[in-house]
Amino acid sequence: TPVVGVLALQGDVREHLIALAAADAVARPVRRPEELAEVDALVLPGGESTTISKLAALFGLTEPVRERIAAGMPVYGTCAGLIMLADKILDPRSGQETFGGIDMIVRRNAFGRQNESFEAAVAVRGVDTPVEGVFIRAPWVESVGAGAEVLAEHRGHIVAVRQGNALATSFHPELTGDHRIHALFVDMVRAER
Ligand code: GLN
Repeated sequence: TPVVGVLALQGDVREHLIALAAADAVARPVRRPEELAEVDALVLPGGESTTISKLAALFGLTEPVRERIAAGMPVYGTCAGLIMLADKILDPRSGQETFGGIDMIVRRNAFGRQNESFEAAVAVRGVDTPVEGVFIRAPWVESVGAGAEVLAEHRGHIVAVRQGNALATSFHPELTGDHRIHALFVDMVRAER
């Protein structure tokens, strides 16, 4: 059984642990480099990307996570986690860094004030019927490089991307009880092992 960590510095860690267990993975919180070393894959939860970035530096996790991603560890980021996987943020806060891993440029809080949170059916490549997308102060992806595959768009904006073993969604499948995206990710982890 694949062992999947959830970066547990800030954000909706518990919901991901539950979704991963439902998708037949062994799920564990990861707060320290030694814990990272013990997992086959990592989920980056939703929350606040600036806070996650600062806490990762404080906990000595920024470089270890970057190295694992660069070495091909499967990784899945939702919302703030998608931002953490972007090689570039269009509008970073000062000091905000990402792990990178996907050749894409993201815009934080992109869906705007009028519509800070909403739900919408989203067709995702690789999933047979649309998923209920929960968007909470969600980013969108402005553009992707040649190596990245767009898996979903909403209102003309990219909201799901995969590049190699890195998967990212602007929305939060962990909040819906529909575990198909987590299952897709766990399949990626199985394929890598
Ligand atoms: N707006 C948040 C950020 O910029 C992301 C929100 C979320 O993860 N739901 O990090």
